[in-house]
Amino acid sequence: MTQLYLDTEFTDLKQTADLVSIGMCSKDGRVFYAEITDYNHAKCSEWVKTNIIPNLPLSTKTNPLTFIEAADVSSKDGIAHGFDVEMRHQKEVVAFNLKRWIKQFSNGKASIEVWADVNPWDWVLFCDLFGSAFNLPREIHYIPLDFATVLKREGLDPDVDRLDLLLPASRDNVIKLHFGFDPSSMDKTAKIELMTQTKHNARFDAIVLQQLFEQFQIKPESK
Ligand SMILES: [Mg+2]
Repeated sequence: MTQLYLDTEFTDLKQTADLVSIGMCSKDGRVFYAEITDYNHAKCSEWVKTNIIPNLPLSTKTNPLTFIEAADVSSKDGIAHGFDVEMRHQKEVVAFNLKRWIKQFSNGKASIEVWADVNPWDWVLFCDLFGSAFNLPREIHYIPLDFATVLKREGLDPDVDRLDLLLPASRDNVIKLHFGFDPSSMDKTAKIELMTQTKHNARFDAIVLQQLFEQFQIKPESK
């Protein structure tokens, strides 16, 4: 088994919600991020209109419908091992490219656990992206898992601010992975301010989850 960490943003906290953006991060820091262009804007709650829609980073890019693939992102020995994807496109095109991105972690079996922070919110939208749970990429295991339950099991408040849980080294790793620079010259307040402003970006939230998994040493089920 391997693990992928998932975060989504969506139009409302209800069953009929549409997916707005999706972020996934692998254990070794390969990232997928997409913004959907053909969701129903009329379904957005007031909170989403204020906090999510204006802060979708790709919506302000001059050519937002293209996608960027960064090959070689996890290369430590000069050999390309994988790629990141960043795109803004229709749901169907996003699903196609997410399947391609997931394939790089495949060993041919349904061997990928998908973890989200509170996965009951994300999982149904993740399945819906592919049409239904019967159309999930074959590498994806059908049981969704969530981090909030792990916190409860650890005797921690599942509602704790995830940024408060991050240890200093993990905080730096999140900044490196999400923003692409080394934050060692920044003080703690500046780092926390930067991260607090970026919360609710699905790419950022998925990376935070990836770092928390390292801290809590949550291992995938061995199969
Ligand atoms: Mg989020």
